[in-house]
Amino acid sequence: MTTTLAPPDVAESFRRDTAKHEMTVLHDDGLYRHLRFRSPENGFYWFDLVTWPGVLAINGDMAGYMFARLTDMFEFFRSGAFGSDRINPGYWAEKIRAGSHVKEYSEERFRQLVTEDAEGSAADYPGLMDAVREQILNSDDIVYEDSARGLLDEFEHGASVTARCTCGGIREGISETEATGWRVSHPATAPSGSGRHIVTTGRVEGFRFSDTWEWDLSEWSHQFLWCCHAIQWGIGQYDAHHGQARQPAAQIETVELPA
Ligand SMILES: [Zn+2]
Repeated sequence: MTTTLAPPDVAESFRRDTAKHEMTVLHDDGLYRHLRFRSPENGFYWFDLVTWPGVLAINGDMAGYMFARLTDMFEFFRSGAFGSDRINPGYWAEKIRAGSHVKEYSEERFRQLVTEDAEGSAADYPGLMDAVREQILNSDDIVYEDSARGLLDEFEHGASVTARCTCGGIREGISETEATGWRVSHPATAPSGSGRHIVTTGRVEGFRFSDTWEWDLSEWSHQFLWCCHAIQWGIGQYDAHHGQARQPAAQIETVELPA
């Protein structure tokens, strides 16, 4: 799969949501820490970071998660910061022990996958992209995953019917309705003496989306990405409070959690 990048709009909304946040150190004893971040004006978007050996918990207005990996989880999140956003949702999600959902259906991703798949066959099926836009991409049903998948299952474009008559008459590339009409009208227009007219029809399949059940239509949830930013930013505030830009630990250490 492609590398997952955090949409920059989450970073922006995090900055906006926490513009007036201040840190209160409720507890700070080695690896036992309890930090609160909130605006003095209101409780919107407040969050707490709590650590004890081997664990970091974030909880607040947006969501809550518990991560476990290194003895000092602040070190884990400092050293695991990648990219311009300095968050690493894919790796960090693997270290979650409990919490709110991390992924959710993405209409944007659905649009992207549908468009890419249809474009691959557009040359073989004239009008396909217009039909996809009209019947799927412009539909209100793609707001929810179940109904969006339903549209994919039902969609077909470019199907046609071939009708043949025992007299040798044939019509190709017509619709079901045209075939039915031809079955009725054809004997009257056929040359006399051409015998009995028994019409059979065969269907030529059109374009359909295939194996869409394999499509992963989810992306990182806004809540999860927001909390990733919150952890990263919160640790930065804590480090600044201690007056040092801390270096990543030289040694990566795994903690044994109690059974
Ligand atoms: Zn005929």
